[in-house]
Amino acid sequence: MSNNGSIPWIKDQIDPKLRSWEEFYRNRWQHDKVVRSTHGVNCTGGCSWQICVKDGIVTWEMQQLDYPELEAGLPPYEPRGCQRGISYSWYLYSPLRVKYPYIRGALLDLWRQAREEHEDPVEAWASLVNDEQARKRWQQARGKGGFRRASWDMVLEIMAASNIHTIKTYGPDRIAGFSPIPAMSMISYAAGARMLQLMGGVSLSFYDWYCDLPCASPETWGEQTDVQESADWYNAKMLAVMGSNLNMTRTPDCHFAAEARHNGTKMWVFAPDFNQVAKYADEWVSLNAGQDGAWWMAVNHVILKEFHHERKVPYFIEYVKKYTDAPLLVELMSTDDSNLYRPGQLLRANRLATYKDIENG
Ligand code: SF4
Repeated sequence: MSNNGSIPWIKDQIDPKLRSWEEFYRNRWQHDKVVRSTHGVNCTGGCSWQICVKDGIVTWEMQQLDYPELEAGLPPYEPRGCQRGISYSWYLYSPLRVKYPYIRGALLDLWRQAREEHEDPVEAWASLVNDEQARKRWQQARGKGGFRRASWDMVLEIMAASNIHTIKTYGPDRIAGFSPIPAMSMISYAAGARMLQLMGGVSLSFYDWYCDLPCASPETWGEQTDVQESADWYNAKMLAVMGSNLNMTRTPDCHFAAEARHNGTKMWVFAPDFNQVAKYADEWVSLNAGQDGAWWMAVNHVILKEFHHERKVPYFIEYVKKYTDAPLLVELMSTDDSNLYRPGQLLRANRLATYKDIENG
């Protein structure tokens, strides 16, 4: 060690006084234009972002600050965004991002071999699905990884050949498929749904695909999660939060819940864990995991008892008549036991003699 405390055999390559390290940050944030965009990732947030682009590469992103005011008396939308959104450019260029079609290795090998033996791709596919051993090889490899990169031409040919084979053998209505959720990609959704419909296949709901649909919502209200927007939380007198940890899964809208709290709204959180949103609720009801259904049935019981059965509250009765399936009648089916009935289908007008000829009965 020298007299001045420096280590002579380590040479300073960088002179701190020149501050050349700042160049790193200048490079990191440089851009030649800013464009507006959002994230099509089925978060349904639709937040507005400034995307900074350099030579066609997204370099970074920043929240937009020009949302119009929604309505006087309601808090503004901005700031809007989430941690996933602000790091989205990292996903775009991540080496882990899937950019090519992948196919189970067992099927890839079998397909290549079948194509060597059959000029017609439909015949090649038929040779595989009719061969029990071959089928087992790729079907039992499911869930075990082993994907290999393939070309688009190849996978499109396999998909077309397998669909045509199914149509020829069993008919088009034996093809059931999903298309991506329209909230994520309207064009992809329309393309897939239209193909299935024009082909005579069955276009299933994307909600069935990823099990996202709270079934009770359309069953009770007759629509599919077309509920009010989050800004309306501010108008509520009471918020019952369940099935969502707002801070994590509804990040851009979560501020409305906090603002509603400041506005006097009472907030109850029903969750097994003392999660992020529970910490600023008035009450946290610690449900046992898996018992939410029992809890809400008990809640319904109390509501019906106090607002409908023991005391008729006109506001409540008008509401359920107008907006829910509560006034619909259910047909009772007799059973072997003359005292017992089981519920059948909802009663339709045209099942009654008076309305039997009514249109759309
Ligand atoms: S919620 Fe997050 S991912 Fe979705 S649009 Fe907003 S910032 Fe993007």
